[in-house]
Amino acid sequence: MDDAPFLAPDASTRRQFLKTLSRGMGGAALAASAPPLVGRAAAPAETVPDEETVGVALVGLGNYATGQLGPALQETTTCELRGLVTGTPAKAEAWKKKYGVPDENVYDYDTFDRIADNDDIDVIYVVLPNSMHAEYTIRAAEAGKHVICEKPMATSVRECKAMIAACERAGVKLSIGYRLHFEPHHQRVMTLGQDEVFGPVTVMQNGFGFRISEDATDQPHIEWRLDEEMAGGGALMDVGIYAIQGARYVTGEEPVAVTAHEYKTRPEIFDEVDETIFFQLEFPGGTVVDGSTSYNGSFNRLYATATDGWFEVSPSYGYGGVQGRTHEGPMDLPRDVNQQARQMDAFAECIRQDRPSRVTGEEGLRDLEVIEAIYASIEAGGRRVEI
Ligand code: NAD
Repeated sequence: MDDAPFLAPDASTRRQFLKTLSRGMGGAALAASAPPLVGRAAAPAETVPDEETVGVALVGLGNYATGQLGPALQETTTCELRGLVTGTPAKAEAWKKKYGVPDENVYDYDTFDRIADNDDIDVIYVVLPNSMHAEYTIRAAEAGKHVICEKPMATSVRECKAMIAACERAGVKLSIGYRLHFEPHHQRVMTLGQDEVFGPVTVMQNGFGFRISEDATDQPHIEWRLDEEMAGGGALMDVGIYAIQGARYVTGEEPVAVTAHEYKTRPEIFDEVDETIFFQLEFPGGTVVDGSTSYNGSFNRLYATATDGWFEVSPSYGYGGVQGRTHEGPMDLPRDVNQQARQMDAFAECIRQDRPSRVTGEEGLRDLEVIEAIYASIEAGGRRVEI
């Protein structure tokens, strides 16, 4: 759960852009539901002309959708919240009122596939528990809609591949909710690392964790995170994935091997999912990354040392308040941009220009490959596992 402990962008700076009222072109597609991971053909979604806003439907109106994505959609320049998918009528009422979503654009999980017939909706944004990402991404693709799926992309490599295949088959674009690719400090460290501005990166320390307290375990957004079947894993799946991402986008490489250990100090809470994991990633260019993640303590830092200097982002992975520095001094960059608004505007631009997303399904798949290797190493008692 990477929302609560971190600063949100200042609400007072938010502004509602004048939205074009014209509607985007949704793809006509098949309306029937399908079992998960079973693919069918669909009519390809079309590009959206430049003068039209891109209509987004949120699937799952939980913490992240409510606290971040709904408000962020109001700050986008090219997107508009036009659809809702929820199993809770009271939530639908509150959202309809707050965001002016018409009745006919509200669906539940049974009527979801009818969204295929709704030309108001261009993009379906899946914000459900991890184990539901694959099914709803595939159903969204089969409805002929472009898809943004939250991280982790799915709970297994197999599911990620099925999601990519479904989107390819349907001719729709797939993007993963990796908001930090649109955050200035993270964009800067991508350049510093990949362009070897301070020489090749030799060693990194990346960690993201927060503590789940005993009295939080019955909160709905924590409950499923402690359930292996719903979450697919614990801290690693939820927030450790940011440390993996950071290592991959600073080096610009894919890790070739991993060594990992797990520690559980509160097995009564973490009887199903991982609590604290330390992992080391080896990259082909020689960079070694010391990664950590936890549901038992707060840390939030990306640090890279190179042959001729160092750079870090700390705090690193929150929604705002991000801060960066190098051995030369502080990074003079805005600290509180609306990451999610930028992420959604960038995807809308990709749809308009018929380009792939900056954060494709393949990007999500690579992280799941690393996560599966980390779990395999733990299973094998800390043995080095090649990826
Ligand atoms: P949440 O529990 O607050 O929201 C999940 C939503 O799914 C709820 O509205 C819930 O009613 C709905 N739902 C439908 N079927 C359900 C079922 N069978 N069991 C449980 N809930 C069900 O969770 P959240 O914190 O909003 O996380 C949702 C997704 O967003 C997760 O995949 C999470 O990793 C991701 N997320 C991403 C970020 C980010 O910064 N990119 C931040 C937070 C969460």
